[in-house]
Amino acid sequence: MRCSWILSALVVVWLVPAAVAQEAGPRRADAVRHLAPEARARVVEHDPRVRFTTRPVPGGRVDVASGVLRAEYQAVGAASLARAAAPEVTAQRYLARRAAAFGWTPEVSDLELASVHRTPYSSHVVFRQTYRGVPVFNRTVKVNLDADGRPVMVFSGYAPDVAAQPALRVVPTLEADAAVARAGAVVSKAPVRAAAPELVVVPDAPPRLAWKVIVWPTDYPAEWEVLVDAHDGTLIQLMDLSTHAGKGHGAHAPASAEALGSATPPATAAGTVSGTGFVFDPNPLAGAGVVYGGAYVDAGDADTPVLTEALREVALPGITQGADGLYRLEGPHVRIVGDASIGIAAYTPPAEPTPDGFRYTRSNPFFEAVNAYYHIDASQRYVQALEVGDIQKTGVRVNPHGLGAFDDSKYYTSLNAIAFGLGGVDDAEDADVVLHEYGHALLEASAPGLLRSPEGRALHEGWADYWAASYSRRQVEAGKAGRTDWQTLMEWDSGDGTLWSGRSLGRSGRYPQDTRCDDSFSCNIYEDGLLWATTLMELWDALGRDTQGRVITDRLTLFSHAYLSHPVTMADAAQALVRADSALYGGAHIDVLYQVLSARGFLEAVAAPILMHEPLASTEQQGGTVRLRTRVVGTAIASVTVTYGYDTDTPTIALPLVAEGDGVYAADLPLPETGGEVAYYLTATSDQGGQARLPADGTVYRFFAGPDGIPPLILHEPLRQTPTAAWPPDVVADVRDDAGVDSVWVVFAIEDAAGTERTQGAFGLAYDGDHYRGTFPLVKVDEGDRLRYRLFARDAAAAKNEAVLPEQGTFDVRISARGVLQAYDFETATAFAATGVWAQGVPTFGLRVARSGEQVWSTAPQTTYPAEAGVSSLTMPALNLDGYAHVALV
Ligand SMILES: [Zn+2]
Repeated sequence: MRCSWILSALVVVWLVPAAVAQEAGPRRADAVRHLAPEARARVVEHDPRVRFTTRPVPGGRVDVASGVLRAEYQAVGAASLARAAAPEVTAQRYLARRAAAFGWTPEVSDLELASVHRTPYSSHVVFRQTYRGVPVFNRTVKVNLDADGRPVMVFSGYAPDVAAQPALRVVPTLEADAAVARAGAVVSKAPVRAAAPELVVVPDAPPRLAWKVIVWPTDYPAEWEVLVDAHDGTLIQLMDLSTHAGKGHGAHAPASAEALGSATPPATAAGTVSGTGFVFDPNPLAGAGVVYGGAYVDAGDADTPVLTEALREVALPGITQGADGLYRLEGPHVRIVGDASIGIAAYTPPAEPTPDGFRYTRSNPFFEAVNAYYHIDASQRYVQALEVGDIQKTGVRVNPHGLGAFDDSKYYTSLNAIAFGLGGVDDAEDADVVLHEYGHALLEASAPGLLRSPEGRALHEGWADYWAASYSRRQVEAGKAGRTDWQTLMEWDSGDGTLWSGRSLGRSGRYPQDTRCDDSFSCNIYEDGLLWATTLMELWDALGRDTQGRVITDRLTLFSHAYLSHPVTMADAAQALVRADSALYGGAHIDVLYQVLSARGFLEAVAAPILMHEPLASTEQQGGTVRLRTRVVGTAIASVTVTYGYDTDTPTIALPLVAEGDGVYAADLPLPETGGEVAYYLTATSDQGGQARLPADGTVYRFFAGPDGIPPLILHEPLRQTPTAAWPPDVVADVRDDAGVDSVWVVFAIEDAAGTERTQGAFGLAYDGDHYRGTFPLVKVDEGDRLRYRLFARDAAAAKNEAVLPEQGTFDVRISARGVLQAYDFETATAFAATGVWAQGVPTFGLRVARSGEQVWSTAPQTTYPAEAGVSSLTMPALNLDGYAHVALV
């Protein structure tokens, strides 16, 4: 069963090899010079179509050219949106409501749901812009919702002009294979690998239909995204999507290629154990408290007594024993592989007869594998301990020598894999380099695609540097390092600046005037990124120069990434930190965040207090009072006031709130004696005269007090034609009510083809946390039968208000018995039940492909098959085969 559901999504294409240009002299990863001349002219550092110039407006950023909103840091009027609905439903309703500001039509018909990511504290819904059903290149919209399912922050890359363009033919003239061949030919004369091409609409004027092809050359390290016009074959543009370490020119000679053997096949697992190995932690210089030089030099990857002395023995948890009895560095979070598709050089990964066999000294080509495995695995375990949701949990692949003699390292976004080079000091010998590349992998996992703009690249580099420095600083503060200058990054790999310039935190300046990434030509992503890294360290200082400061800063930054979307700015990232603090800590550190981030220009200084408030819900209580609370952030708060009124748009009765401590202010709000709608807004004033108001957009909060006479709202996608094999089908409904939902049920009847009623009945729907669900009873049905049903819902109000859908008549469903009786898509949760090693997941081990996109049901999709697995089973939902003679399961 497993095999039939796994088909190749990644097409590996070997184009005819021609003569491979021979490299001479020191090798740097300068990808552009390898391209065919016509391609060089088409190389972009970023997508030029997404270079929006925006200006800040209260609560967001507006596109100067088109006037549409690009970022909305405080969703407007979202308080009234339902909490019971699924996040994607609420997000879509919000987008419809805000259509005018963002530039799409109120039907939002060209935004297609692309992904939903949930954490315990938030949801993040991504929509993809489409043009006549084809995705528009690089244009997405992200709606971030809070724990209650209310939109809080929106980012948009929407192209408002595309829909209005004259019709473009969206059926390609050029075959996909021809596009791949074209892309491969301009990227290299050597063989290339390519992913299956994707059809996109490039939002030029007029728009162009293009094949997007990802190509990996085999003779130099790069990950080219190539756009080829799908009608006339014109090369539109090329962009390198991989990151690299950003080293300056090195004076060193290339290292000799070592151990570049053929890749070993993936091990068939017999089990997992904890191994033991030697690593540098974080590197020999920091450990010993020395600078590069003397006995502490690379010396052609040689062992020396002091460098052997610097080794530390560590546990290597989760490594795998293969069926051949050998242990390999393949764990749940990182797998050391020899595949030359990760980079350009094959590698033979270590395979040892005993789990403690990974104790190599640095001259051994296996040492870099152990060092990379240990630091990435430990970093992921730390991420999990921070409890900010799964980020890169299923693991990256690493080729420790994948860049061969190049003095560079790369994270390949499309492969989710890291390759390290051997030039100078072997890159994977330095934990700063390992953790920097892994930092890219962590950010890409939460916010894919940020590398497509210069400022996004700078943010990536800054974050990756921070992630490496966070670990070094943690070691220093724990007294585990001899050198205390954790601000110095990659000191072993750079030879303290003698092999290449190295990098160091402590960048001065303010955003945006002292950065240049709004102009791609003068942008230095590493230099400008350091401003972000430096500021995050200042945040750590301000939150406490200790474990607490580190944990809060690491949690906030890691978690905040889920909010971000291409094309990102550092101001967006700062706003996301504030939002993350609201979600994770109830806004406990907002004062500190504003202080630190505004000092560097990433946020506007707090001139006015900041109000945070959970709007009051409707109540059936008449008369008396309800307790109203708000949190106020800021210094020298002079007054906090609620202004309210009944059945009015302009409330006028002011009531002061009293401090309860911890920045919380409260008042008892009187309710109308005879029921009615209460409208209110909040204001806060500081001694300096700064004022804040909620809702910020000048509207009012509203709730109803008194007997509720309004029935629930039922939203339901009617069942379509149902095969007898899928009987009984599920009914799913979204039901909302101010006073709460009491019950939801279905009343139905089944008639035969002649219209005679066969059976009738009713059943209840249960709330599963998102929707109301129920299943029709298992009764006899035949082809040609007709199912008629209606949905009922009753609210929790005293009046027990009821709604029915449809209001007139019934939903009619034809029962059929032909063709595909039942098909399952594994991208969403399915009704399959599994025992043992069967699991649903992204296949990152073995055949790493999924027929329906990303997910499969398979035995151990992310690791090797354990020897002690025993009997495992996968049970699919019952299929009603009554009346079928021949049924096939494929
Ligand atoms: Zn980088």
